[in-house]
Amino acid sequence: MKILVAVKRVVDYNVKVRVKSDGTGVDIGNVKMSMNPFDEIAVEAAVRLKEAGIATEVIAVSCGPAQAQETLRTALAIGADRGILVQSDDELQPLAVAKLLHAVVKQESPSLVIVGKQAIDDDSNQTGQMLAALADMPQATFASTLVIADGEATVAREVDGGLETVAVKLPAVITTDLRLNEPRYVTLPSIMKAKKKPLDTLTPATLGVDVAPRLATVKVAEPAARAAGIKVPDVATLVAKLKQEAKVI
Ligand code: AMP
Repeated sequence: MKILVAVKRVVDYNVKVRVKSDGTGVDIGNVKMSMNPFDEIAVEAAVRLKEAGIATEVIAVSCGPAQAQETLRTALAIGADRGILVQSDDELQPLAVAKLLHAVVKQESPSLVIVGKQAIDDDSNQTGQMLAALADMPQATFASTLVIADGEATVAREVDGGLETVAVKLPAVITTDLRLNEPRYVTLPSIMKAKKKPLDTLTPATLGVDVAPRLATVKVAEPAARAAGIKVPDVATLVAKLKQEAKVI
């Protein structure tokens, strides 16, 4: 069974992003970039299925600039077998990525596609769902457990107030939630080994995909700064302020 995993290069989750002064977006010049955390979980899930003898090959795919090769090398160091870079310097919105992944799915015919539930840069939470629709595959989103048996994936989904368990026939698209697993630390030997693993480069044009943006970003702004708090001398003052000023009791 082949597994395709989508990995996005995003601003590292520890970086405090700055909005560009003209409000057109976020400044990503000179900031640390890493693999989207939900995609690390996706790669880990796929590699564990290979280690369990359920999957035979794990292919990592990233769409983006040449530097996304680094993200693919990280996926290969976690344990993916080969990488595919769909290289583009254009802005790639979720629909464009879903179409590119769909084109790769048609070439590779995986039994399972695992993507993150959302990319932490755009927080769109759209790509997996759109890919499932384009590829006409069932989808199980926000997976917190994943079991593959008898041509089916059984997934416990994180929903409001609990877990919902669904079974989907393979081939299917799964999107990962935070509790699915804890990705391993990549070791130096695995990083060295990853350098020798195959990495192919394709382009939207070779895949015949139009990646023109369908949404225009009107404005990006910082969230309003929070007002400073105050210290109250005693409980009576706190209760009085909650009643008279905050009017919450
Ligand atoms: P989003 O819909 O943008 O929140 O992204 C959801 C998931 O789709 C991510 O966690 C990735 O697994 C995948 N994805 C989004 N953009 C890309 C990209 N440029 N390259 C590879 N995978 C992507």
